[in-house]
Amino acid sequence: MDKELFVKSAANLKKAVPLMLKYQVPTTPTNYALWYTYVSNEIPELNSELDLIIEGHSVCPPIQAETLYRTFVADKVESSTWQMRENIEKMMLALNQSVKDTHKDTDKFQDSLDKTFSNLHRVEDEGWSIEEVMVLIRELEGDSKAIRQATQFFSASLTKANQEIDKLKQELEQSQKQALYDSLTGLLNRFSFDTELSYLLNKNNEGLCLILADIDHFKKFNDDYGHLLGDQVLKSVGRRLLDAQRDGALAYRFGGEEFAILIPKSSLRKARQYAETLRKLVDKLSLRDKRSNKQIDHINASFGVAEFQKGDTLTSFIARADEHLYKAKELGRNRVMPM
Ligand code: GH3
Ligand code: MG
Ligand code: MG
Repeated sequence: MDKELFVKSAANLKKAVPLMLKYQVPTTPTNYALWYTYVSNEIPELNSELDLIIEGHSVCPPIQAETLYRTFVADKVESSTWQMRENIEKMMLALNQSVKDTHKDTDKFQDSLDKTFSNLHRVEDEGWSIEEVMVLIRELEGDSKAIRQATQFFSASLTKANQEIDKLKQELEQSQKQALYDSLTGLLNRFSFDTELSYLLNKNNEGLCLILADIDHFKKFNDDYGHLLGDQVLKSVGRRLLDAQRDGALAYRFGGEEFAILIPKSSLRKARQYAETLRKLVDKLSLRDKRSNKQIDHINASFGVAEFQKGDTLTSFIARADEHLYKAKELGRNRVMPM
């Protein structure tokens, strides 16, 4: 590796690691890449978004990190599925071992240097013969060869690891999308929702709000126009929710025709207003069914909102939003509850 580059990389890692500790970021390859890019100041947009997240959450939640990683870093550096990630982790472990081995060798070399120096004193003090001194020097020569080999081996492993990472990049990106994103709507999927919510509940749940949205009489779109049109409706509702994301709120496909939006550091009042905005956006949706050539403009959804309360569990929090959603359905749909 280019020495200048190596020095710069090491300096960046030195800056990145304390930040990762401070914001309780797990030390995964993805996070290393993300924070490494952050401290390198290479992508200003990434920095400002990450700053916003930290400001909003005081920590860096995993799905937010993944999303940033995917948006800003993945195409340029790498991306991963769990399987691929494991491979990279293994590779890092192996590298780590090489570093340790090299260290050990260096320590051993240091010991032998120390020993040789003390022997050199003895050469003078005890009046050693030239032959005895030569033995000493040969030992030293052997040790220094060994240490050179170890360092070369380490450097070769680094190069190889870099090549491997390069090779994994393309395959990774595709499969990572499948792991975290819903393929139909492009929204984050239920797995991502569960991951993010359980993380937020443990870390920073003050003012955390949840909106659950369920498309009204969705089954009828499927029944009247076919499953494909149903899919189109899901896609366009998903698109609306995605476009309306703001202030750290993230939208997820919760299941079938249900969506969830997690809003950090908010309040029930603000989250209800946000839900009302979303309701109006969905209500305005209109799309044409190509088969029957009919315009479909009666798309709407019901919304249930909940704010996290002390003593809430993941289940009770979701259940409260779900109860409000049920209430909204009961009262005639296309509305936000609580009022
Ligand atoms: P409500 O207003 O009470 O919510 O009525 P609804 O018809 O929306 O609710 P219901 O639960 O009766 O029907 C939901 C339907 O959504 C049933 C299921 O077949 C359909 N569905 C779930 N996932 C998909 C999908 O990915 N694509 C399509 N086209 N339909 C889906
Ligand atoms: Mg439903
Ligand atoms: Mg429904």
